[in-house]
Order: sequence, then C-alpha cells, then structure tokens
Amino acid sequence: MTEVSSSTPSAQAVVAEGSAKMNLIGLPEAKLVAFFESIGEKKFRAIQVMKWIHQYGADNFDDMSNVSKDLRAKLKNIAEIRPPEVVQQFDSTDGTRKFLIRVAGGNVIETVFIPDGDRGTLCVSSQVGCSLDCSFCATGKQGFNRDLTAAEIIGQVWIAAKSFGQLQANGPRRVTNVVMMGMGEPLLNFDNVVDSMNLMMHDNAYGISKRRVTLSTSGVVPQLDRLSQFTDACLAISLHAPNDELRNELVPINRKYPIAMLLDSAKRYIEAMPDTHRKITIEYTLIDQVNDRPHHAHQLAELLREVPVKINLIPFNPFNLSNYKRVSNNALRKFQDILMEAGYITTVRTTRGDDIDAACGQLAGQVNDITRRSERYRAQFDEVQAVKIVGQ
Ligand code: SAH
Ligand code: SF4
Repeated sequence: MTEVSSSTPSAQAVVAEGSAKMNLIGLPEAKLVAFFESIGEKKFRAIQVMKWIHQYGADNFDDMSNVSKDLRAKLKNIAEIRPPEVVQQFDSTDGTRKFLIRVAGGNVIETVFIPDGDRGTLCVSSQVGCSLDCSFCATGKQGFNRDLTAAEIIGQVWIAAKSFGQLQANGPRRVTNVVMMGMGEPLLNFDNVVDSMNLMMHDNAYGISKRRVTLSTSGVVPQLDRLSQFTDACLAISLHAPNDELRNELVPINRKYPIAMLLDSAKRYIEAMPDTHRKITIEYTLIDQVNDRPHHAHQLAELLREVPVKINLIPFNPFNLSNYKRVSNNALRKFQDILMEAGYITTVRTTRGDDIDAACGQLAGQVNDITRRSERYRAQFDEVQAVKIVGQ
C-alpha cells in the first residue's frame, strides 16, 4: 500500500490506493478527514474514528459504538486499523519495557518504554536500521533497510500505550513523553515522522504536549531547515564532539554538514517556534579516551556559548561490534563539572533496562536483507572531502 505524502492531502491521493485497504492508524487528522470526504463521509466521522483508534485503542470497526452500522460495514470493505505486530515484550526489573515489533517485510524493530517517577518516556524507532553509520551505534552498524511507514511509527506508541491500559476510559497515563531516539535517523524519513509526531501531539489522539515530544537528529541539515514548517516538537542534536575533526570520525554525516552549519540550523528551528525560552538538547555520548577529555569539555563549552542549549551526557553503551569503552565515572563527573561551571544545565542519562539490552545504541532488532547504503553514503562523503582538498 502506498502512503499518502505529507503535503496537503487530497481526496484523489487518498482514493488512489487501488484495491488495498487503507490503514487508518497512520493517518494524521487532515489525511483521515480527506479519506472520509473521498468516500462521501463528513469530517466529524473521521474525528470519531480517530478517537476510537488512538484514545481507545480500537483495532476493528465493530467496537465503534457511536458509528452507524452502515458506515462500519463500508469501512470494513475499504479500510483497516493495523498496528505492527509485537513479537516479544521484555520487562526489566527497573520497570523498563522493551517491545520487539515485526514490521512488514519481516524485520524486527525495537521500542523502549522508560519510567521515571511520574514520567514515562517512549523511545520510538523511525527506520529499519540506519544509513548514517555513526561509529559508536549498533543500529548504524547493521546498515539501512527501509523507512518505517507512519502506521509503523505511531503504531509503536499505540502498542506501548495499550500495553499499560492507557487506551481505555480513565486509563492510566503512562506514556507521557516520546523521543524519536530509537533505531534510525528521523529526518531521513521526514514525512512519516512528521505525520506521526503530529498525531502524538494531537488532542484527538494522544494529546502529548509539544514540550514532551522530541526529535533527535545527527544533523541532516536540509531537512532540519524545513522542520519548523511542519511541527513544533522539541529538538535534540546528537553532537558527540566539540570539533569537526573528531565529529567527522564519530558521526560521518558531519563531513557533509559540519558543526557550524548544524548549530545554525538548529538555532533557526527554535527561533521559529512561537513559544520563547526553548532550548535545544545537545546529546553527547561519552566514549573512554575518545571524546571525554577535559579539553573536549572546555571546547564544547566554548562552542555552545551562543546557542540556547541544555546538555545531556550519555555514557557510551558497549555492544559486541564495537571496540569503544564506556567513559569512566571520574571522567564523566569531571566532564559534567566543567560544563556546569561554564553555566550549562548538564544532565547525565542513566542506563536503564540493562538486563534486557534496552539502552541507547544497543537497539539492533533483527534486520535482514540490509542494503549497504551506508557504504554508498561513505563514498559520497569521501567525494565531498576530495573536492574540498582539491579546492583548497
Ligand atoms: N538517529 C538519531 C536518533 C537515534 S540515535 C540520532 O542520531 O540522534 C539516539 C541517540 O542514541 C543518539 O544521541 C545516539 O548518538 C545515541 N547512541 C547511539 N549509540 C549509542 C551507544 N552505543 N551508547 C550510547 N548512546 C548511543
Ligand atoms: Fe543512525 Fe543515530 Fe545511530 Fe547515527 S546514532 S547511526 S544517525 S541511529
């Protein structure tokens, strides 16, 4: 089935689905309304169905008691509500819950729920694998397979919320925050990620505040430049290094879009937000002896002087394909102290779900049939570098 593109929805686009049933779970309000209008139904019907799916966890039309029998029968013929399939659920002793979710094509992705007091953060995947090949990331090591559809992205929220009984009348509100920090680079799956994030924040769906939905990117600048036109969610930048030389090694996309360009674009994003006092979250994964020295912290403090940020330090989580080591506790403390003394709000992400391999960067799923797109990316970067050197 083809997904409808994220630009202005049209009835034609929606009915151009051929014989396949339209999966309604992935449609944001405007597209759902366009679908209903394309079959001669009113907007309020679309809203009713939207609430049934995302607020009450309905996955079949028969449950929709305030929708007429005729319309239910009509919908059954042409539409469906199909979340991806949960293969396995792991519960950690610390309350972290990990879902292995099978998506179309047979690959398995991971979604992690992390409780913290009143807060429950869901870490959502946007792609099967990732093409950007950051040197410290397990997802990157497996290459890229495909983008997730909007149904598969919002489906992760649906699955997690439903597993906690959240999608029923007066159900507990467990998923209070969402971070697009699972597998994949969200900005490389722009339309589906934007549609899904807007569903997360929509009052007729999950109603999560825009301050509690965060997109994390390693720095796809052209897409970041477009983002403020489509959403007002929070932004996290995966920086990991205070200078281009080191960042080129850790985050290869930096060779195409270097730090200054990335920070400028991030600044423009938050300046475009209607609410003031927004801060960009800077994520910095600390790797022993690689980017965790005091001079790195000083350089980082200098680099971010003019950018409204808070900094989140993430101790590197080891995995078997990597030789990197976790930062020592001493180096971590020292790094944090330097940044705090320089005036930055600096938090440390504690590792959760250790017993179920649910930590950042350990999300590998079971991805088959990898096209080595990451290799093609590398070739592209090398080309850019070569041009730069020749041009110098
Ligand atoms: N592609 C996006 C979002 C997914 S990665 C991005 O890069 O921002 C989510 C976060 O996990 C990123 O900040 C990433 O750098 C971090 N991460 C990846 N591998 C890690 C590892 N092995 N240990 C700790 N953090 C890691
Ligand atoms: Fe992709 Fe993010 Fe992992 Fe880099 S850190 S390889 S961008 S998922």
